[in-house]
Amino acid sequence: MLVTLKENLKKADEGNYAVGQFNCPTLESARGAIEAAEDLQAPIILAHAEVHDEIIPIELIGPVLVRLAKEASVPVTVHLDHGTNLEMVKKAIDIGFSSVMIDASVLTYEENVNTVKEVVEYAHKNNVSVEAELGVMTSSGIGGEDTGGDNEDELYTDPDIAKDFVEKTNIDALAAAFGTVHGIYVNKPNLDYDRLSKIHDNIQRPVVMHGGSGLSEEEYINTINHGVRKINYYSYAAKAGADAVKKYVNQHEDIFYHDLTVVAKEELRNNYKKAISIFTNKGV
Ligand SMILES: [Zn+2]
Repeated sequence: MLVTLKENLKKADEGNYAVGQFNCPTLESARGAIEAAEDLQAPIILAHAEVHDEIIPIELIGPVLVRLAKEASVPVTVHLDHGTNLEMVKKAIDIGFSSVMIDASVLTYEENVNTVKEVVEYAHKNNVSVEAELGVMTSSGIGGEDTGGDNEDELYTDPDIAKDFVEKTNIDALAAAFGTVHGIYVNKPNLDYDRLSKIHDNIQRPVVMHGGSGLSEEEYINTINHGVRKINYYSYAAKAGADAVKKYVNQHEDIFYHDLTVVAKEELRNNYKKAISIFTNKGV
């Protein structure tokens, strides 16, 4: 069933677990995610990232995600990931998305607040949840654009500013920067749990962890215990899918393209099952 992000994360808060967000730039990735959630009877979030519009436009994949969510026996949120403008947000809402992220974190603080407020006003009128970002989420350059920079105080989310930001914008969830990066990790991540706790205490809303694939089981559990309710998990699953395809290609002759899509989907399904099991404390 299709649910808003707010509803999905409220239950997660009550149960002290996190809901996995999986990006769906292909039909296989969406089906792998839904099948994993159905197998485990766990809630999930299917996302279309605005940057993936180059791979598949939202007009094509969006209705598929909404349909998969409506037909699922588990709660599914359909979410726009890293939306950069109101036009894209409106497009997602028209298609039937139940949640959007507006990422105006590159703007000045005041501009970020104003942009997010405008999106919240529009989205809430349509019963759609909003996630926004404060602080700068960097990328490793592998599976994500290299944003460079490593000065923690400048990049990480300030807990006091987070409080002000949430009060002014009335968002439903906050993407906070506390040590994770997008893409494949080059160095072991160093997570700032104190900062995460302070942010969560100050905002009293669910915290979203971006760059959430590639952490250890212990790190996932710690972040959940410190207030993370949504984990954006994708790069490592996408890498696992590609590795499975590579192995299949090396082991078989006379290969057809459609066989590869099945191999990729099954690997994503297994990878997502492991992730969901950890996020929801269900055990693998
Ligand atoms: Zn992100």
